[in-house]
Amino acid sequence: GNENHDLHILFFPFLANGHIIPCIDLARVFVNRGTKATIVTTNLNVPLISRTIGKANINIKTIRFPSPDETGLPEGCENSESALAPDKFIKFMKSTLLLREPLEQVLEQEHPHCIVADMFFPWATHSAAKFNIPRIVFHGLGFFPLCVLACVRQYKPQDKVSSYSEPFVVPNLPGDITLTKMQLPQIPQHDKVFSQLLEESNDSEVKSYGVIANSFYELEPLYADHYRNELGRRAWHLGPVSLCKRDSEEKALRGRETAIDGHECLKWLENKEPDSVVYVCFGSMTTFPDAQLKEIALGLEASGQPFIWVVKKGSKSEDDKLEWLPEGFEDRIEDKGLIIRGWAPQVMILDHEAIGGFVTHCGWNSTLEGVCAGLPMVTWPMYGEQFYNAKFLSDIVKIGVGVGVETWIGNIGGEPVKKDAIEKALKRVMVGEEAEEMRKRAKELGQKARRAVEEGGSSYNDFDSLIEDLRSLSH
Ligand code: UDP
Repeated sequence: GNENHDLHILFFPFLANGHIIPCIDLARVFVNRGTKATIVTTNLNVPLISRTIGKANINIKTIRFPSPDETGLPEGCENSESALAPDKFIKFMKSTLLLREPLEQVLEQEHPHCIVADMFFPWATHSAAKFNIPRIVFHGLGFFPLCVLACVRQYKPQDKVSSYSEPFVVPNLPGDITLTKMQLPQIPQHDKVFSQLLEESNDSEVKSYGVIANSFYELEPLYADHYRNELGRRAWHLGPVSLCKRDSEEKALRGRETAIDGHECLKWLENKEPDSVVYVCFGSMTTFPDAQLKEIALGLEASGQPFIWVVKKGSKSEDDKLEWLPEGFEDRIEDKGLIIRGWAPQVMILDHEAIGGFVTHCGWNSTLEGVCAGLPMVTWPMYGEQFYNAKFLSDIVKIGVGVGVETWIGNIGGEPVKKDAIEKALKRVMVGEEAEEMRKRAKELGQKARRAVEEGGSSYNDFDSLIEDLRSLSH
């Protein structure tokens, strides 16, 4: 309905694909419920955003990213995708502090009723206060990773162990979650401004009006309750945002320009058995050394399952040889494997009935997209809160099998994960009794996810609570 057309919400996602995409999906949820929505971003992020918006009635307001003179970054570096090296990343994060003034100009022009900004813009709370509007945090996570992050930060269990590999239990959290120091987000912090920014980012959940979680109640009731009642945060769950209403064309358009035509993908999947194909993708930022790619290729082949494998490496040009592939791999595989070099229409692929398993780095978006598609998953966390999400899939909802990565070190120059480990994990999620049980649980969760966003569902209703809260504030 259009009962909320008097409300205007401004969205300000962090400049990274894994933050921008769910934020647009979230804006779409608001627009579908009759609210006016505007996305604020910088010029070079507009193509990705307008593609993802498709035909939806979401406005874009652009602000200027500071110049190379101001940032010390190369020209054109406006998305964290182009700032992956640690020194660049620090400069990139510090540059975002300069977006405050331009954002406030937009607030002055647009007079929104609320601003939904990423946790990485902690200063947005002050900007909002200046204009007397509430600031809400959205950075695309669910309650489980939010709870673990908050408990680790509050109780510092990592300070009580003697080595990086000694396990500790996350205190005051249901489920006896064990972690090691090697599984905590590792970000270089030797820069004062940068570490202060991180510190304030972590606080922004507490200091803002509330938090929107990309989740649904039935997925993680213990943690939804814990976050609100024990940690005392105001929060709404409006997800999974990837299930927001949009037509099939818009589904294929979500994110960057794809390296493969959506129809071509569907055609390839057409003659495959239901639940037989493995989809392998490690999010928007991960690249692997050749030695690791080779092991993945061999593991996929040994599993005997057909696969779609997304590789973020090399160019898109057709004559670019896949030199890191094992010898004769392509001839042996023939139609059994599809390698996509670049950006894949992930949600469209996952939703196809032929897909039966997902090898994922456990970014929260991918995790939730796998849940929505009802898929058992092989978990291969890389960094950040992905180790928490992997635990969630294997230990809490029990639809994941670890490939055996226990530390982020392994992903940056340690020994590659071997073919045998990959093959073993794949077999566990694809064939046999354990696989069937996981698939059954995953499909049930997928159905619950769809019910949650339908009229009367838990996320649908929580949207109403949020609107009610916002209205009571403006009175
Ligand atoms: N994605 C995609 N195609 C790709 C890679 C990623 O559509 O080839 C999408 C994926 O569906 C998800 C997002 O990009 O919505 C990645 O977010 P996630 O939190 O999983 O990982 P991140 O990229 O932030 O590490």
